[in-house]
Amino acid sequence: MPRVKQSDIEQLKDKIDIVDLIGSYISLKPAGPGSFKGLCPFHGEKSPSFHVRSNPAFYHCFGCGVGGDAFKFVQEVDKIGFGEAIEKLAQRVGYQLTYEEGEREGSNRNLLLNINKAASDYYQAQLNSEEGRAARDFLVARGFELEAIADFQVGYAPKGWQNLSQHLSEKGFSMEDQALAGLLSKGDKGYYDRFRGRVLWPIRDANSQVVGFGARKLYPDDQGPKYLNTPETPVYHKSSVLYGLDLARKEIATKRQVVVVEGYTDVMACHLAGEKTAVATCGTAFGEEHIKLINRLLGQSTDPASVVFTFDPDAAGEKAALKVYGDSSKFNALTFVASGPAGLDPSDLRQQQGDAAVIDMLKNRKPLFEFVIQHRLSQFTLSDIDSRVAAARSAAPVVAEIVDTALRSGYIRMLAEWVSLDVSDVAAMVGGNKAQATRARVEPLRTSTAMPHQEPVADKLETQIMQILLQNPTAFSLQQLRRMQAAGVISGAYKQLLDLIIENADHLADPSFANMLAHRGDEGLQNTIRQLALAPLPLKSEADLGKYSQGIVSGAMIKALDREKTDLLAALRRAELASSDEQKSAIQRQLVELEAERRSLMN
Ligand SMILES: [Zn+2]
Repeated sequence: MPRVKQSDIEQLKDKIDIVDLIGSYISLKPAGPGSFKGLCPFHGEKSPSFHVRSNPAFYHCFGCGVGGDAFKFVQEVDKIGFGEAIEKLAQRVGYQLTYEEGEREGSNRNLLLNINKAASDYYQAQLNSEEGRAARDFLVARGFELEAIADFQVGYAPKGWQNLSQHLSEKGFSMEDQALAGLLSKGDKGYYDRFRGRVLWPIRDANSQVVGFGARKLYPDDQGPKYLNTPETPVYHKSSVLYGLDLARKEIATKRQVVVVEGYTDVMACHLAGEKTAVATCGTAFGEEHIKLINRLLGQSTDPASVVFTFDPDAAGEKAALKVYGDSSKFNALTFVASGPAGLDPSDLRQQQGDAAVIDMLKNRKPLFEFVIQHRLSQFTLSDIDSRVAAARSAAPVVAEIVDTALRSGYIRMLAEWVSLDVSDVAAMVGGNKAQATRARVEPLRTSTAMPHQEPVADKLETQIMQILLQNPTAFSLQQLRRMQAAGVISGAYKQLLDLIIENADHLADPSFANMLAHRGDEGLQNTIRQLALAPLPLKSEADLGKYSQGIVSGAMIKALDREKTDLLAALRRAELASSDEQKSAIQRQLVELEAERRSLMN
């Protein structure tokens, strides 16, 4: 993706009406002057806690803590990158973007995507050719109707060495570029088609762009591997693509669930059976990049999310499950395993027993740790007491890591039953492990990013002061701000923010003051700024803002004054002890002045 000029980004931002933008995704209702609210698109809720404002142009959800500007919203809701969000918004408001020069990678990307699209169209057409019958038969035998096959744009790569390359060359794509897209291989005699005599699934990114292909062999005389994928290209990275993502991403976010299956036909089977959150890795094991991708799709929310894996019940499947278990603390979700009756995968299960059997299989999931416990126990004969004790010891650390205490006791009882030992003995083994257990394994449902930034709780007045500072900053003079700072009126989490505001006091009158601040500081501080800037104020109309602000400013000054008075009284006691009459009368004069000021503020 070529880089958009920074000046364009700023100008585009000014052109976007964030209320209008978000209003096109969710229904918004007025929530006080200049402020709107609606049901949060990022977490399930029945009463609206998602707030949007045009000035400052922010959104913030008081339920799940998400928030940001227009770009962030589009990125999160559409599950796309920053660059794509900019292009999408530019299109929306009809803004012509200019790109940084010399960014050849960007034009390359578009070219490769175009080549892949042309190849996908070609393969799809070939599926309906005479020769494509083998592929059609393969799919139909697995329970897929022709209509479903077309919906998933499954294709066929004909036998022969130059079918695709010839077709694409006629379309004007060079051999070098076709090879760059991973569609051609190079031998002694030049380029030849990579995929030959295979059924093909186009692999699309979250924006439905074809980035590569997965291909399964059809003919017994094919010497190649059973599955062959696009190699790494500038647009295809196997460690971070998931087949079916474009179809599943919306449902994943709303259902807060992902089903990870092993093959392309399993994805099709799940979707056709009604489970539309299914995805599969493409020619690689499930790894760290996939976890990051899934966490992003699930979004920031404290609502429980689940990732359900369907592993083949063979040794490879077991190994994959154990690998995922090792990474399970990295998920912002609970992990489960679902296996079909007689070890059938979703595709075979659907073909043999129908859609409902697939849904049942996924419903009958069990926690991944239970699968791991059983795997560990299976390494022992359990025929004598020594073996049973050793088995229990081997499984105990897994049980010790279960965060939910009720669940953990349940599994202690279950483990005791499996190994025929006393519950108290097993509990002691688990307890011993728990004491040693490091805190490295985090509780999967509580992510720090989802928690609002509010360590020491600020009192109500402090919160109101900060709200006014972000929503009507000129209500305070710089002198008043400095006085609050010196008197320690603002404590805890907001102190850092007040310092930041004073540092940038030159811009207090700038209409986008809060926007500007929101780009400073860490994620936690940014979140605090958005929360304060969007907090609904108890006003009947915008006209009341000035009066309300004045009340808060007076409250702030009274608090400052009370602090100063406490300090003066302490100084007075010290002066009395030191018998310094001169100091004493100076302090007393100040106290009288403070009292007069206080009275004027109270009126
Ligand atoms: Zn929310």
